[in-house]
Amino acid sequence: MCRRCESMCNEVQDCSVLSGANRGFDSVVAPAFDMSLNETVCTNCGQCVAVCPVGALVEKDHTAEVIEALADPEKVVVVQTAPAVRAALGEPLGMEPGSLVTGKMVTALRKLGFDYVFDTNFTADLTIMEEGSELLDRLNRHLAGDESARLPILTSCCPAWVKFFEHQFPDMLDLPSTAKSPQQMFGSIAKSYFAQKIDIPREKMVVVSIMPCLAKKYEAARPEFAVDGNPDVDYVLSTRELASLIKAANIEFVTLADEEFDQPLGEATGAAVIFGATGGVLEAAVRTAYEVATGQDLPKIDFQELRGIEGVRTAKLKVGDLELKLGIVHKLSNARELMEKIRSGEEQFHAIEVMSCPGGCIGGGGQPYHHGCEELLEKRTAAIYRDDRNNTLRKSHENPHVQELYKNFLGEPLSDKSHELLHTHYRKRSAL
Ligand code: SF4
Ligand code: SF4
Repeated sequence: MCRRCESMCNEVQDCSVLSGANRGFDSVVAPAFDMSLNETVCTNCGQCVAVCPVGALVEKDHTAEVIEALADPEKVVVVQTAPAVRAALGEPLGMEPGSLVTGKMVTALRKLGFDYVFDTNFTADLTIMEEGSELLDRLNRHLAGDESARLPILTSCCPAWVKFFEHQFPDMLDLPSTAKSPQQMFGSIAKSYFAQKIDIPREKMVVVSIMPCLAKKYEAARPEFAVDGNPDVDYVLSTRELASLIKAANIEFVTLADEEFDQPLGEATGAAVIFGATGGVLEAAVRTAYEVATGQDLPKIDFQELRGIEGVRTAKLKVGDLELKLGIVHKLSNARELMEKIRSGEEQFHAIEVMSCPGGCIGGGGQPYHHGCEELLEKRTAAIYRDDRNNTLRKSHENPHVQELYKNFLGEPLSDKSHELLHTHYRKRSAL
């Protein structure tokens, strides 16, 4: 009865799904209008779960299915780990908030029995190649007077945001980038390019994601992300679920040595890891779009003007002769406000990044509970930017394995093959 979940849903995310009004004590968080959550405008962001002080709200756990796959000698089980996971997994396993545990996480996943341990950061770099190219293509067409090339381009890597705009802004479905999220690009590339490389059919491969996010569970189950009923991503575990699995396997996490990701889908740049914090996707896109558009080296790599914790931030950046107006938003109430201004013509941008959770994925619904603590989110964010600085390669187009993927398999960004494997479409959904 503290109703923090309800405040999160109504005030912070502005979804108005959870309601205590006119309900009995036993159903205080049931959705309004007597519907199951699946039938409502719920975005699956999981922020109700993240703030519940007593653990009364829980996600659907797929740990049992993952253990079964790991025990099946007929299956090749591939795991990917999202950028924000490495900045928070240490917390429930005895380490200080803000610890970066990438190497220990890789070791633990090998000990659990995964056949290949890969990095979603690889496909975050790939997302930048596709989304950055789409931004430049749309800008050029827009500037040439093509009325079908509408701006701003909106990021599309957050599945809760995607479901939110499908419900709330169905008249603006041509604005989001058609690039799939890094999770879904990974599943698609793993079950095509990598399955071919190790010479197995896609049905023999099981792709597991470790995500900071509860909406990723829903995203993996969207019917368009499957081939003949075989999903690109089979199971999604949250950071919390992985921590529990590591504990259940009696792995003493803090004493583990660091190991490296497998290749080729384990190579990534610093631009990819910053996807985990609000502003990171746009900063990564700018690092690549600038060099591709101007043919010149970036004068600086860190774009402080795109960072920060304010709910809505704007920045102007010169790319060649063009001054780009960029917007960065986290939390869905802020996204709604900005989108309404864009719809009415009050505000104009070239590109906007939206992340549903506070602080971006570092504050995701699948992370160790943040209970609304901003200091904790700041420590995770600092870890993400530290990881970026520690990388020798910090621009997505410099990733050698991404370059190889284009050379040997995809052709070039926005090619027919890229469209087939790496892009998607959106649908209108009911606003009730
Ligand atoms: S489910 Fe949790 S957050 Fe929601 S009212 Fe109950 S105790 Fe509070
Ligand atoms: S911000 Fe990140 S963690 Fe939150 S819903 Fe979006 S993708 Fe998931």
